[in-house]
Amino acid sequence: MVNDNTANAQEAKEKEIEAIKSRKPRMAICYDFDKTLSPDDMQTFTLIPSFEIDAARFWEESNKLAKENLMETNLAWMYQLLHYSKFKRKSIRKEYFREIGKDVALYKGVEDWFDRMDKYAEKQGIILEHYIISSGLKEIIEGSRIADKFKRIYASSYYYTPDGVAEWPAQAVNYTNKTQFIFRIAKGIFEEYDDRVNDSMPENKLYIPYENIVYIGDSATDIPCMRLVKSKGGYSIGVFDPEKDIRQKVYQLFNDGRINYFAPADYSSRSELTKYVKQIIDSVAAKEKMKTEQMILNVDAALFNSMKALEQMYALTKQQAPKKMKKDMEETIREMKAFIPGNIE
Ligand SMILES: [Mg+2]
Repeated sequence: MVNDNTANAQEAKEKEIEAIKSRKPRMAICYDFDKTLSPDDMQTFTLIPSFEIDAARFWEESNKLAKENLMETNLAWMYQLLHYSKFKRKSIRKEYFREIGKDVALYKGVEDWFDRMDKYAEKQGIILEHYIISSGLKEIIEGSRIADKFKRIYASSYYYTPDGVAEWPAQAVNYTNKTQFIFRIAKGIFEEYDDRVNDSMPENKLYIPYENIVYIGDSATDIPCMRLVKSKGGYSIGVFDPEKDIRQKVYQLFNDGRINYFAPADYSSRSELTKYVKQIIDSVAAKEKMKTEQMILNVDAALFNSMKALEQMYALTKQQAPKKMKKDMEETIREMKAFIPGNIE
């Protein structure tokens, strides 16, 4: 009987340790889109001109609309675009946006960045996932050449009527509500409507631990995300256009402690950005290896803890407990002790 129990427990323990050893920790890189992955601003450079509207005039009107009506600025431009589409008798459909997405320019190296980084992470035993968190239009990003590289694209989007015409904003993503998506990714509660994202979740149940999250962005609208990620132990990177080389923003962000790194938005294999992200992957992998060892140590330590708890319970109840129960408890404690390595008396 004792031998059987011990053999079973031994087998269970080995299985548990095997499962710990073969676990594959996840890591996420979250990207802003405009001026982070793409040198342009998709609304200004592609979408608005495609309507034969002057971009400067469009933004002037849209900002005026926001100011005069105390409107959220993203809702204002989304409204303004629908207003123009009606005025120009040119209804906008999802396919129209997707078509525009095909022509969105990308920074150097972006197209093969994802596969390169995935491979690098995989070598270190890390599963790397990519996410977009952008105020730009989701439908345009979905049309871009890199759309399939992302596990999720969180961005502003329209609600479409049954016949496929954009009618109302479905999502308006701005700088502060951008942060909710970091929580969604960490907790693995991905759907935009799912309010379980506010439920508290212990560290060890997270889909991706916060310290395994990287955020890459270029501007003030990224600050809340950069701050959130960095303050929770993750990494934030500020990027700037390699050609224009305008660095005031990143110097400021760095001095204010909002970012861990800054680099030109060059995603090619020998770039600074590649070097930094590889460093982060190395560091995440090293920390995860430590976590794995600690989880293995915890197997025996947790058993010791349970044994101690049982001993305490036994001490408290042994006066009143029936003989049979007492005997069973003594037996279990003995078995547990025998099973815990080392001298524990
Ligand atoms: Mg941006």
